Amino acid sequence: MEKQTCSRCLNDTRVPGISFDAEGVCSICREFEKWQENLNDYDALERLWLKRLDDCRGKGK
Ligand SMILES: [Zn+2]
Repeated sequence: MEKQTCSRCLNDTRVPGISFDAEGVCSICREFEKWQENLNDYDALERLWLKRLDDCRGKGK
């Protein structure tokens, strides 16, 4: 597979599970964009954070 580097960050095809779209933007940046959209919705963001905290608590000590 040809080596490709993300046009927005420094991730390239060596990152496990990464993929690139037609614009050369990696899947991680696309995921981050979704988060940024949620930043405008504080209620949704808070719920996401609380869920993450719960997940951490469930796994850890
Ligand atoms: Zn990227």
